[in-house]
Amino acid sequence: MQKIGFLGLGIMGNAMAKNLVKAGFQVTVWNRSQDKCSELAALGGGVAATPAEVTSSCQITFAMLADPAAAHEVCFGPDGALQGIGAGRGYVDMSTVDAATAQEIGQAIAKKGGRFVEAPVSGSKKPAEDGTLIILAAGDRELFDQALPCFEKMGKKTLFLGEVGRGAQMKLIVNMTMGGMMTIFCEALALADKAGLSGADLLDVIDSGAIANPMFKLKGAQMLQGSFAPAFPLKHMQKDLRLALALGDSLGQPLFSAAAANEQFKKAKALGLSDQDFCAVLRAVAS
Ligand code: NAP
Repeated sequence: MQKIGFLGLGIMGNAMAKNLVKAGFQVTVWNRSQDKCSELAALGGGVAATPAEVTSSCQITFAMLADPAAAHEVCFGPDGALQGIGAGRGYVDMSTVDAATAQEIGQAIAKKGGRFVEAPVSGSKKPAEDGTLIILAAGDRELFDQALPCFEKMGKKTLFLGEVGRGAQMKLIVNMTMGGMMTIFCEALALADKAGLSGADLLDVIDSGAIANPMFKLKGAQMLQGSFAPAFPLKHMQKDLRLALALGDSLGQPLFSAAAANEQFKKAKALGLSDQDFCAVLRAVAS
């Protein structure tokens, strides 16, 4: 059995690493805040003191980190993942970052003789727990094939999209869609409220017709209850919109709706909602 490493035990990483442990893989974990490793240790996972300790002792190391700055620091920082990379070692970064960050990390890994795959995911806390994520992989095909048994325990569908950067782009485009859908949904809820219409009725009408979708159904019920416990932290949604807008800039594609959605999420962050679920943007929209 291959030795597997996992860096980053936030909302997503914790659930994904647990699925690997439960599937019988020999997993060693690391997290910046060490206390988050205890749950994995209790399930039988090993705990390392640094990212380099993980990458130097595992055939494949997965990373699931907050944003480009975190992915960069964990790879290139002191005792970072890159230090432990050598021939035959694979690094799979599943964090949502921009294509340039994924490419920079991929090139550095390859320079040290390692293999690199980017594999951001679509799906939130519950799909991560259930092992039903959609994995958007790209990069070294041999490492992809080697990592597939792990992907199959974390996700229900895995795509191979080609060269490094394609996974990041696909992920940002998908999340840009989600951010835009969420803000118009919030505007609908806020407008219905001001009009004196029942939010529950609005959800029922939406859910009964052609614009029904699982996100409106799941989040709508939580939003009406004022329940914003984070499954997908709002700050990460704003980061994804920011990165999608930069992609639009670089390709000359106007993104009017995404830009407007981004402003709502920026306002929500300014209101102190960064660590709430992204559906808490309702508070910014309705204020
Ligand atoms: P999270 O709960 O905020 O966890 C972030 C992780 O990154 C934690 O392990 C955190 O360590 C680590 N981290 C942050 N800054 C760091 C730094 N400078 N150095 C080292 N480690 C650092 O986020 P999440 O929801 O699991 O999301 C992780 C990634 O998946 C993000 O890129 C997000 O956009 C993406 N994603 C999330 C969802 C979702 O629904 N939650 C869905 C799809 C994709 P500490 O514990 O020490 O803070």
